[in-house]
Formats: sequence, C-alpha cells, structure tokens
Amino acid sequence: MNETFPVHQSTNLPIYQSTIIALESAHTSGVYPKRPLALARGVGARVWDADGREYIDCVGGQGAANLGHGHPDIVAAISAQAARLISCPEIFYNEQRGRLMAELAAVAPAGLERVFLCNSGAEANEAALKFARLSTGRIGVVATVRAFHGRTMGALSATWNKEYRQPFEPLVPGFCHAPYNDLAALEANVCDDTAAVLLEVVQGEGGVHLGTPDYLAGAQELCRARGALLIFDEVQTGYGRTGRLFANEHYGLEPDLMTVAKSMAGGVPMGACLIGPRVQGIKPLSHGSTFGGNPLACAAALATLEVMRRDDLPGRAAALGEYLMGRLRRIESPLIREVRGLGLLVGVDLRVKVTPILQKLQSLGVLALPAGSTVLRLLPPLVIEQTDLDRVADAIESALDSA
Ligand SMILES: *Cc1c(COP(=O)(O)O)cnc(C)c1O
Repeated sequence: MNETFPVHQSTNLPIYQSTIIALESAHTSGVYPKRPLALARGVGARVWDADGREYIDCVGGQGAANLGHGHPDIVAAISAQAARLISCPEIFYNEQRGRLMAELAAVAPAGLERVFLCNSGAEANEAALKFARLSTGRIGVVATVRAFHGRTMGALSATWNKEYRQPFEPLVPGFCHAPYNDLAALEANVCDDTAAVLLEVVQGEGGVHLGTPDYLAGAQELCRARGALLIFDEVQTGYGRTGRLFANEHYGLEPDLMTVAKSMAGGVPMGACLIGPRVQGIKPLSHGSTFGGNPLACAAALATLEVMRRDDLPGRAAALGEYLMGRLRRIESPLIREVRGLGLLVGVDLRVKVTPILQKLQSLGVLALPAGSTVLRLLPPLVIEQTDLDRVADAIESALDSA
C-alpha cells in the first residue's frame, strides 16, 4: 500500500475520495442519487471530504444534524451510555428511557403524554397511522398534495410524489391527498370513515410551503367535529428547525398524534410518535420495535433536549433564519421566484432547475439540498455562525450569476 496515505482498517485501501467512491459504488443498492463526494468528518456546521476540502453544510444530515457535527455533549452522552448498556428492549424498563419519555411529555403540545419510541421518521408515521386506525376503528387517511411522510408502505401511501408511489402499488387502501392550505378541500375529503388527517406544519421535501394559521386551526377543528384524529408530522420541522422546539407551537395547536425523528437524538437514529388523550385502544402487542427506546438513542435524545434548552437553539434558528432570508431576498437575480421559510428551514424557489445550482454551490464549498425540481432548500445545523450564512448567501448569489 502507498505509505503516504492513511489506510482503512478493514479494506487496507488508501482513504481518499476516488477510492471510497469506487468501493461504495460497487455495492450500493442504487436507490440514492449520489453526489461524487465522500465526507470524512465534521465540526459544527462544517464538514470535510476525504481529501481534506472544507464545506459549509446546509444539508445538515437532511435535517438530522440540527445540533451540528461532533457536538461534545452528544459524544459524551453516547460514549457514557455505550459503555453502560446499549440494548434493553421495551419489555424491560430503563432509566434513560423513562427520563426521556417524561421530558418529551413536558415539552410536547398539551396532552401528548404517552410516547412510542422507534428508529426513523417513516416508522414514527407508521405508528401514528396504526394508532389512528386502532383508536377510531376507521380506515381512511387524508394526507396532502406535495406531502412527504417517508417510504415504507404505510408512510409511502401518505406521500404525494407519484414517482415514489406508483412502482409499489397497490399501496395501503384508504389514503387520499387533498390540496395543502385548502380548508374546503379538506372538508370535502374528511368523512365518517376518516381515521386521521396527516399534515406537515411546513411542507419540507414538497418545496418549503408554510401551513397557514387558518388552515391548520381549521384542520384541527374539522377533525374534532368529525371524530377523526389530527396527526402532525414534525419529523423535519421539529427540534428547533423552524424557530420553536416544534413548529406547531407557532400556532398553539393540539394535535392528537405528533411524529418526530431526524434530529431528535443529535444524529443517532431515532423516531417517536407522541400520543394524546383522544387516542384510545392501544394495548400490549398493538405495535412494537426491537430497537425502539434503546438506551443509547434515549441518552442521546436526552442530551439533545438539554442542549436545545441550554443554548436556546430554537431561538437561534428564529433569529438566524430571519437574517438568512433577509440576505437571500436582497439578491437581485431574475432566477429567484421567491425566498420563503420558517426559522432555518429555508427554500429559494427558482425559475430554473436546481440541480446545476447545487453542483455549482458544492464547487464553491457549500452543500445544500433540493426540494422538488426548482426549490433550493437549506437545512444548516442550528449552531451555524452568522458569518457562515453570509458565505452561503454570497455563494448562492454567485452560483445564480454564473447559471
Ligand atoms: C424525512 C422525513 C420523513 C421520513 O423520515 P425517515 O427517517 O427518512 O424515514 C417523514 N416525514 C417528513 C416530514 C420528513 O421530512
């Protein structure tokens, strides 16, 4: 082996990008559109590729890195718990889990006092959908146009994008999609066989669309009146992203079920479905998960809530989001249709395809995401420095200039 490069322990291959990319490409499932970039490490809102090049990270683990990379509190919590106990299925009790459940109940919207723990956003939504059917004895689920709720069969049935859905039909029966922010359309779709209405408070993958207060409050009222349950999917909007711990706090609403995941355990895989008083009929063996509620993820999730509170990351997201959107709105480019967002969930709606712009940004040292084909989405860690956001805005301006 070449002595000048560090070698990988198990493969004995030198570690630099082309090697890593070739190795992964030979075996990857093929479900991901890949960027030719191998990330090796990160600190805060910066990441470095395997050749040592630095980037400002506005992908933020696709929403899983709200605390930033390498957060010392998360590292400490994981390390300590890993040495103590990793596996403890929920047939047993565990202190970390108990404390986490109590903390979640304390910070969640009123009434959400029971918690089902799992390992991802899709799984959290599967749980919510099952609990809704169990509780109501009804079948129907009304989701929304442009919704994204995950890719397992139940969650996928609620996801809007036909490209994701069609190859896997028939999906779960009883799902329909009503236009978002259209209360009349929701009313027309919620019937006496509707178990639940499933909504994102801000649509993330669907293009960064904010729910209006009237629509969200109207949805809650409609569900109450017609005996359906209201599920908020806060998988992307939760954990400080929009400037509050959970986005529904902006509106003062009380969903019957709320799902979270992504950043809830500081980047460690974890999801949760929070359960309100109108949800009935959950009993032993109704649902379950081997890894759900494992002490390692619970310890990371407890540390995450502690950091969120101590460092007021939601407040930081609110202030920095305003700042970033202000900077972006001052860019004079005919290619920008609209800048919109809430907190640090920010979308730049373009008049051109976003993919070449993302590539250009990467060459300028900024990593960002799409949301649909023409929206540039920014999900920076909430610990990002304002000076880094200046660099992001400058990079977007020059990427658009040269497009
Ligand atoms: C990412 C996301 C999901 C799916 O989460 P996974 O952990 O990828 O399964 C569900 N809902 C929303 C709103 C999301 O943004």
